[in-house]
Amino acid sequence: RKAKYRNVQLDLPLTLVLSVGLHKLLLPNFHYLLSNLLKTALLLFQESLQAQQPSNHSDFSCPICLQTATLPVETNCGHLFCGSCLITYWKHSPWLGAIICPLCRQKVRHLPCIHLKQIVHDIRAYNKRFSGQPRPFADYLYDMPLFLTLALRGIFTWGGLMCIFFLRLVVCSFGTIICLSSPFDTMPGPLCRTLGTADDMVVVSLLFICVINICQQIATNGVNMARSAAQSMLSES
Ligand SMILES: [Zn+2]
Ligand SMILES: [Zn+2]
Repeated sequence: RKAKYRNVQLDLPLTLVLSVGLHKLLLPNFHYLLSNLLKTALLLFQESLQAQQPSNHSDFSCPICLQTATLPVETNCGHLFCGSCLITYWKHSPWLGAIICPLCRQKVRHLPCIHLKQIVHDIRAYNKRFSGQPRPFADYLYDMPLFLTLALRGIFTWGGLMCIFFLRLVVCSFGTIICLSSPFDTMPGPLCRTLGTADDMVVVSLLFICVINICQQIATNGVNMARSAAQSMLSES
């Protein structure tokens, strides 16, 4: 029991010193941290936009109205038009017969709408989430992979690092208070050992993420320096 107290007494000041040190280290970098978070959010947004666009129609322009196609449809001959443009074209055809593709003169038999299914699905998902109706449990399970991916990406930033560190601080303080305030040795040995191992793993993973972040920063700085050096050499010549 005395040994356990000694461990706790050693652990608490160490944790406090570490937390103050990390706080001092991170506070001047706060704007860097914020910009990093914003950059990550922007990248995620761009990725999601790129994922929605099929690769075979890079410009998405409609040959009828010469604008970017709204609610684009792709004909069976592989040409892309606005849904409304092609339907207007169809309504002006004699006897409402099948359309002949304005580009390749093939008969249009099938008009799969490229974005409509996705848009309807997204709108339904949004309404389910925010209309206040009770959501089935399966919906929360369906969201889990996305949340896990986002959380995993968030952990590898300075913000995520700080969150884990302060979580550990709170858990450690709580454990210390429980240990010191209980008159009897209530914590069983295996539980203590498991908690200790979990804490060690958290510390090791924190260090690991810290090292990864520092390496990334050094690599980015190196690339920027090389780029500026190349630019200055080009401008001199
Ligand atoms: Zn159009
Ligand atoms: Zn065609």
